[in-house]
Amino acid sequence: MANHKAQNPKILITAGPTREHWDPVRYLTNPSSGAMGIELARALRKKGAKVTLILGPTTLKAPAGVKTISVVSALDMSSAVKKLFSNANAFVATAAVGDWRFASPSKRKIKKTAAATATVKLVKNPDILADAAARKKKGQIVVGFALETNSAIAHARAKLRRKNLDLIIANGPASFASGRIHPIWIEKQNGVKKLSLMPKPKLAALMADWIFKQWKTR
Ligand code: C5P
Repeated sequence: MANHKAQNPKILITAGPTREHWDPVRYLTNPSSGAMGIELARALRKKGAKVTLILGPTTLKAPAGVKTISVVSALDMSSAVKKLFSNANAFVATAAVGDWRFASPSKRKIKKTAAATATVKLVKNPDILADAAARKKKGQIVVGFALETNSAIAHARAKLRRKNLDLIIANGPASFASGRIHPIWIEKQNGVKKLSLMPKPKLAALMADWIFKQWKTR
């Protein structure tokens, strides 16, 4: 990344939910719309960044001028990030990655049986953000989100440290698939800022400004 300040920053973003198939017609997922990551991609692109968006299954459209890689599962998303992280100046993980996947997904539709219960075995998915941040090189900026229902600051701070992040945005489940977000901004270097409820494009603009500032001073 020599002389990278002469060019525009390269930013990698994950967004949306992941989808873990049990069989071709059944899957495990969550209500993430991908809106936060899409708005961030738009805001960074507007400032001149070269943005790659790794997007899980959503009905929302990616912004024009952003390179979009569509993925389905957490493993797909993980391999895309593994390929692209080392070349990025900043990585922002907004995706709601499923923590679990089916241990033995079936290629054929699983038949209903007479039994009243069915048992499935799940295995843990990789932590895409933590794995990338563990390979962070000097100058790279890594940002995460933390969806918390209680003790948001304490939990998000612990995640910031454990996952080796520069910034984490804590928020509540009300922001899931909503146009607005009530963020708590927690930086590695500075303190905690409780921001007001705002539209996602507004938070995206604040984050884009912060990322550019960090990138210019590193
Ligand atoms: O640990 P938790 O899931 O709360 O962490 C949330 C942050 O980590 C988000 O930025 C999310 O995109 C990222 N993450 C990830 N891979 C996972 C789980 C979370 O990249 N398997």
